[in-house]
Amino acid sequence: TSPIRVGIVGYGNLGRGVEAAVAKNPDMQLTGIYTRRNPSQLQPLNVGTPVHAMDVLLSHKGQVDVLILCGGSKDDLPKQAPELAAHFNLIDSFDTHARIPEHFANVDSAAQGSQCTALISAGWDPGMFSINRVMGEALLPDGATYTFWGKGLSQGHSDAIRRVDGVAGGVQYTIPVEDAVNKVRSGVRPELSTREKHKRECHVVLKDGADAEAVRKTIVEMPHYFDQYDTTVSFITAEELARDHAAMPHGGFVIRSGNTSAENKQVIEYRLQLDSNPEFTSSVLVAYARAVHRMAQAGQHGCKTVFDVAPGMLSPKSAAELRAELL
Ligand code: NAP
Repeated sequence: TSPIRVGIVGYGNLGRGVEAAVAKNPDMQLTGIYTRRNPSQLQPLNVGTPVHAMDVLLSHKGQVDVLILCGGSKDDLPKQAPELAAHFNLIDSFDTHARIPEHFANVDSAAQGSQCTALISAGWDPGMFSINRVMGEALLPDGATYTFWGKGLSQGHSDAIRRVDGVAGGVQYTIPVEDAVNKVRSGVRPELSTREKHKRECHVVLKDGADAEAVRKTIVEMPHYFDQYDTTVSFITAEELARDHAAMPHGGFVIRSGNTSAENKQVIEYRLQLDSNPEFTSSVLVAYARAVHRMAQAGQHGCKTVFDVAPGMLSPKSAAELRAELL
């Protein structure tokens, strides 16, 4: 069978991750990268990867089986996903949880009209964590679900500290509170406040002459972002920021604990420990792109989420191979 032809839309962290992930999947082939910037300014990981301007994408319709959308959730995906679902099978990683129903409706109406298959909100959260929340609830209806994030770099919170007066640069790590994780793992189903579940650690480079105490106070009191957490701020040099904080690690746990009888507790835990959040997210997108292609071929059109995809559809192995090897 011929390889599944994949196109990348948008070339940032996720775009690069998808290029790397496709190279690890022999049944898939990267046909090109599509960007809103000048294609000649982009440097793909593989010099042989074609880079095109977005405005030629429609003319490549017959050459791509699935588009992997790698734009940002805030401004890019709400516009790009519905527009492109009117012409292509696609997948995105839309992660603004509160706006998923709205995004689904917009993409679904486009994909129903074009008879295409468009899967939204794949990745790890939303994505793999969502699946584990559903499984936990379904398998242990008498129970409680807990999601912990970190230790990991939060892009949104890092952006927020960089906007503070007097700050030249900085990063923010979200860290699960160990005592809370241990309580949850013991199966006692604790009630935990926001502050009890996660703490926030900021590493900040000050501008020349900035007042460190004023910066610290502005950060720890920032509404929504930091005021509900125990937040620490440490001051570092620009060299330390570049040397020690350039990576994008992340991860976390989804834990469901419940009772199947008065005397028996059951605990389920799914854990991710990621050196690179975007590279892992991209690997998930590529596996789900395979499923999108298969669902499109089977005539399963419209908007889908990870909840609609059977696990076997993600694997390059046949159903018979999976039964023999992994069941
Ligand atoms: P990013 O690096 O900021 O890239 C987003 C877009 O910005 C790219 O597609 C690219 O589009 C443009 N861009 C990238 N670098 C640029 C530059 N130097 N100058 C100008 N434009 C540039 O974002 P990302 O880290 O790949 O993340 C994308 C989204 O993934 C996030 O918004 C997040 O919501 C989502 N995400 C989801 C999960 C999950 O678990 N579901 C996990 C991680 C991230 P053009 O090439 O068209 O210019």
